Amino acid sequence: MLRRYTNEVMIGNLPLGGENPIRVQSMTTLPTTDTQGCIAQIKRIVDAGGEYVRLTTQGEREALNLKNIKSGLLRDGYDVPLIADVHFNARVADIAALYADKVRINPGNYIDPARKFLHLEYTDEEYTSELKRLEDRFVALLNICKAHHTAIRIGVNHGSLSDRIMSRYGDTPAGIVESCMEFLRVCVKHNFKDVVVSIKASNTIVMVESVRRLVREMDKSDMHFPLHLGVTEAGEGEDGRLKSAVGIGTLLLDGIGDTIRVSLSEAPEKEIPVAYGILQATHTRITHTEFISCPGCGRTLYNLQDTIQQIKHTFAEVTDPQLRLGHLSHLKIAIMGCIVNGPGEMADADYGYVGAAAGKISLYKGKECVEKNIPQSQAVEKLIELIKKYATPG
Ligand code: SF4
Repeated sequence: MLRRYTNEVMIGNLPLGGENPIRVQSMTTLPTTDTQGCIAQIKRIVDAGGEYVRLTTQGEREALNLKNIKSGLLRDGYDVPLIADVHFNARVADIAALYADKVRINPGNYIDPARKFLHLEYTDEEYTSELKRLEDRFVALLNICKAHHTAIRIGVNHGSLSDRIMSRYGDTPAGIVESCMEFLRVCVKHNFKDVVVSIKASNTIVMVESVRRLVREMDKSDMHFPLHLGVTEAGEGEDGRLKSAVGIGTLLLDGIGDTIRVSLSEAPEKEIPVAYGILQATHTRITHTEFISCPGCGRTLYNLQDTIQQIKHTFAEVTDPQLRLGHLSHLKIAIMGCIVNGPGEMADADYGYVGAAAGKISLYKGKECVEKNIPQSQAVEKLIELIKKYATPG
């Protein structure tokens, strides 16, 4: 899998795109006027591993308060880039650009009025003049961003396309993409490079198809803006996690995506482990040791589930240094119930623990069996010895 080439964009002190790891972000759920509440929530997101945090700025008061939130965080040693989320008010974006590290605007409502589901008829001249109005207003924001080193996200939502776009393109992936391209062309024309793009939808099929189409359009125009991926309104619990994994994971496997946000109807810090899990499962950002284990069946020769937990514990952040192997995050460890299919199915593992006979385990280093038929009671310890002997930090 080849990662799509993208420009590097600085968001505060943390670069995004290019060769940088795929970044993980979340969003606060409190009013942005609640300074202390937001600071506490942002700290929880950062402590969980969040690398950027977005806050809603629905009015000027919220945009101005970003300054207090930022200084409170810095005072407490949290230098996390903050992103302002703006809808329906271009003036708020201008203010937010003074204090935030990145401003997200929604093309569907940046200057176009709230959607009324009206079919609007434009002549070509009228349509062109609407685009000129958009450009003139947007360039004023780009100039503020240039002066303050603030990045922009052009963040399209399927659910908030303007009546203007819907009337001309319909409710289609082509309309979603065009609503983004209109803004990107202005950025290119005015040589503004610090741009991230996103297209989100709650329907994973629409989301995946629209983003793929946007990438094709950008490629045709020689644009290499980094992409932010997310499934909107994904829900909560297992459903929300699965939906996010399907939408985001599919595009990551295409090599598309430079930052992700998993949107869950839960405390925002809960989104972070899910995001890292998706990155790990798609092998796009390895953060922990990978365990390959069979589901078990009638051939299983030992208590598979207990053994998996015992071995995983060794790789977790435990306090006993004798047990700690968590730094070997690049490894793949296989735990297989039997010798019949185990060695073949764990082919790309670095080390393997395989049931050999009743009460007996064989240990593998790569494809080679290095310890045959050892008593099960000693096998986990022997596996750890083996890993400690050969494995070097990745
Ligand atoms: S590896 Fe062996 S024990 Fe595990 S599922 Fe396959 S056949 Fe069953």
